Amino acid sequence: MDELVGSCVRCAHDVYCTAGFLNGILLDNKNILCFNCKDILNAMIKEESLGEENQN
Ligand SMILES: [Zn+2]
Repeated sequence: MDELVGSCVRCAHDVYCTAGFLNGILLDNKNILCFNCKDILNAMIKEESLGEENQN
């Protein structure tokens, strides 16, 4: 059973909870991010940290 949890704060895509598994991540401020946007965000964070490493 799919339960609509809310919509992604970034792309406004509906995020469902399927069999107790949330198809996205819940942020600290109770905002929801879909897996797609989570991956984009993670990639951005990774690039930032890589950029910092390159400065050394
Ligand atoms: Zn999204």
